[in-house]
Amino acid sequence: MKSKSIEQLLDAGFLDELQEGIWIADWEHRLVFTNRVLVRLLAYETEQQLLGRSWRELLPPGDVTQVMRTLETGSNSCSLPYTRLLGNNGRTVPVRMVVNRRSTEKGSWLVGMVVESPLAGINRDIDIWVSGQVMENAPDGICIIENGQIIYVNHRFEELTGYSSLQLGRMTLDRLLAPAYRKSVTQFIEDQHRLLTPAHQEVKIQHRTGREVDCELRVVPLEHANRHLLLCYLHDISELRQAERMRTEFVAMVSHDLRAPLAAIREAIALLADTAAQRLEEKQRRFLMIAQEEVDRLNRMIDNLIEVSRMEAGKVELNLRAVDLNDIINISLKSLALLINKKNLKVVRRIPPRLPPVAGDPDRLLRVFTNLLDNAIKYSPDSGTIQIEIDFVDPEAPVLSEPGILANTRYLKVTITDQGPGIPTEFLDRIFGKFERVEPHGSGSGLGLAIVHSIVELHHGKVWARSTIGEGASFSFILPVKEI
Ligand code: ADP
Repeated sequence: MKSKSIEQLLDAGFLDELQEGIWIADWEHRLVFTNRVLVRLLAYETEQQLLGRSWRELLPPGDVTQVMRTLETGSNSCSLPYTRLLGNNGRTVPVRMVVNRRSTEKGSWLVGMVVESPLAGINRDIDIWVSGQVMENAPDGICIIENGQIIYVNHRFEELTGYSSLQLGRMTLDRLLAPAYRKSVTQFIEDQHRLLTPAHQEVKIQHRTGREVDCELRVVPLEHANRHLLLCYLHDISELRQAERMRTEFVAMVSHDLRAPLAAIREAIALLADTAAQRLEEKQRRFLMIAQEEVDRLNRMIDNLIEVSRMEAGKVELNLRAVDLNDIINISLKSLALLINKKNLKVVRRIPPRLPPVAGDPDRLLRVFTNLLDNAIKYSPDSGTIQIEIDFVDPEAPVLSEPGILANTRYLKVTITDQGPGIPTEFLDRIFGKFERVEPHGSGSGLGLAIVHSIVELHHGKVWARSTIGEGASFSFILPVKEI
């Protein structure tokens, strides 16, 4: 059967027999049809009183915008579970309504289906009331910004900032932030029209008393009835940050205090090994050596702990100078000689003869080599070979265009390779994170590579790992050459 045109359907009169109110509008929004149910619902006498008017006059403006937006996005249907239609004599009627777009060869039509719903009115009021309560009693500070001005704050926001809503109404958000954070937050508020998805950032709020509060700021862009709003949440994380600071300071303090007694024990063992070793039995000599190795290991662990605390406190400052990597390698290998000998390892160096110095902090670079060599030794099989290779980085190499790398600067690449069990591919990036270990219950703190990563990045370098399981692992890092 051929489908009937809209006009034929209208003539058929069956639309008057439905339970729902129906309206049809042309693409200029003019009502071209309303059924009797709708006419009655809106307390009109005849449909002529409605025909020719715009359907948009019957709805609250916010709901009109919602319908238009939904249809503009390509959807053919928009549902309004709680809305009100404007009836005769200014009466509003709570309804549920669905608006559909119908296209025929004669053009596009909007068809509205309306069901009277006394509950819709109540629900809508409750909805608004409940939303208000949710905002007001939220554990996070909430404010709404329009055109840069704060137009709403909840109770918690007042508490966090120390200002009343009246005072806040005359302020902009950047004035509530500690100076260091103002620029970046202002930027994303000014970029509001480009902000399509929620953004968040850690900030410090400046309380009215001048005290700074660590907070996480989350900004959600909202569009409502042609208004562009920013919904901002402030989540207080000051207790969390305070606990972290205390932990870092505690670790730093304990590590520091351990250093002095350890140095004394180390000296005593070294003295014993130098002076009395010949008089000791083989077994006693072995124990002395173990004591020496373990004290060295403890020292390296403590150095790493202190370094991590410094990094977390943001206190790492590089003491840059021209550093000959050969010297650093010699010192590092010397400190690890006991371990290398114990496993009967061979260390092969492939280093160009006239190696230029790098721009580096010698103590920190020593830590990089010692951590990487310590791992290479730990994972090497007995009598294995560890290779230390240094090369110039090809100026065209992709790694030189990565962020953080200095422009127009020559770089050296160091690669340390062992013949150990290797590292599974899925761990190759992760092992540079703090506390990351392939064997979560194995020995070690999981800090060594995190420190290597931070130090290399501070030097405007990059570090990465490659591995074939069963054949070994190789760690490479690049450092800028110090041109003289
Ligand atoms: P850890 O103190 O545990 O050695 P690292 O940060 O130095 O911490 O290393 C992280 C993890 O990376 C180690 O636990 C180990 O699983 C893996 N790893 C590091 N170096 C090697 C290597 N040369 N061969 C195999 N696995 C390695």
